[in-house]
Amino acid sequence: MDVLTKLDILAGAAKFDVSCSSSGVARKNQGGTGNAKLFGICHTWSADGRCISLLKVLLSNDCVYDCCYCVSRRSNNIPRASFTSRELADLTLQFYRRNYIEGLFLSSAVEKSPDHTMEKIIQVLTLLRKEYEFHGYIHVKVIPGADPSLINRAGMLCDRMSVNIEQPTEHSLRLLAPQKSLPILYASMQQLKDQILLYKDDRRHFHRTPRFVPGGQSTQMIVGASQDNDLTILHTTQALYKNFGLKRVYFSAYVPVNQDSNLPALTSVPPLLREHRLYQSDWLLRFYHFKAEELVDANHANLETEIDPKSAWALRHPEYFPLEINRASYEELLRVPGIGTKSAWRIINQRRVVAISADQLKKLGVVFKRAQYFVTCKGIYPGNMPYNPAAIRRLMLPKPSFTQMSLF
Ligand code: SF4
Repeated sequence: MDVLTKLDILAGAAKFDVSCSSSGVARKNQGGTGNAKLFGICHTWSADGRCISLLKVLLSNDCVYDCCYCVSRRSNNIPRASFTSRELADLTLQFYRRNYIEGLFLSSAVEKSPDHTMEKIIQVLTLLRKEYEFHGYIHVKVIPGADPSLINRAGMLCDRMSVNIEQPTEHSLRLLAPQKSLPILYASMQQLKDQILLYKDDRRHFHRTPRFVPGGQSTQMIVGASQDNDLTILHTTQALYKNFGLKRVYFSAYVPVNQDSNLPALTSVPPLLREHRLYQSDWLLRFYHFKAEELVDANHANLETEIDPKSAWALRHPEYFPLEINRASYEELLRVPGIGTKSAWRIINQRRVVAISADQLKKLGVVFKRAQYFVTCKGIYPGNMPYNPAAIRRLMLPKPSFTQMSLF
């Protein structure tokens, strides 16, 4: 099989892994090719808003595992292909030189065994870093069950690693991916966390200490393949951030590719809106001091799809609102729909000089059409009706589209 045919198969199979994004690492070019210092590599958007291209490919799709949700599972009758390490290293460099890509996201199916696959990944990394002196961004997926020493070697050569947890509970993982288990995945995450901290600490004392996974680690969870609700998913997400210091947890709406009694029907659609709400909640966990148990609980085990999680929380807690904008703390301001981290700081700074009125809120970057229902400014409620959560909910619900109205 020629390399382009392999690329066609293996790049197509890699599209289901979403756990790659900018990490803004500072790997310097020491005289070779490529440079991750300026960019941070991402297949979507970098921190400064630019779109970054990344060669996202599998080393092999010839898998010995049989995960129900995966197109590359052993029992599927699909074309199989595997790159040699040199083929993939050459391809990456050629694409880089042609300016098609700025980095590599390298994942793989489990070819023969986890250790065999991880060895091949290390060969690709060694060729790129040592022989071709490629200093661009490289994100590597840890093969579940690989030997810790191999994970350690790969971590010395790449910028970011991800251990994909795939499912939020051991029960779901056992059901859908019987060869994987959470304790094994957690052990790899713990190893990465410990090593990252160790090397960081060493670098404080010894400047020449090499970097180990400088962009940190991330993971991916598939949403909608199992019966797990958002409460379970967000609790697991919160625990992952707390226990393993992850940079990101990515959510991937399940795309029905296999017929299986444990999976949604082939005709079902990927739950993209649910995925979007989970990303919004993830943002609230990381930057807005929310806890998973505040966003979802036993009575509301799934996030509302019609309203964003922060507004839904605010409407369920009328006891917090309306909030006086000139007296609220930073943490309280963050809880107001329409106020973000930057606008909260602007409010804090501005009111040191002068008490803030409703008109000034818009100039401070607040999304006034949402915030107006939840605040008072100098004791005046700016909303166009008395504070009433049920009425506010009706106003905040998305308006029916033209097509829906026509059908109605
Ligand atoms: S290990 Fe599972 S998810 Fe990964 S490629 Fe193999 S079958 Fe797919």
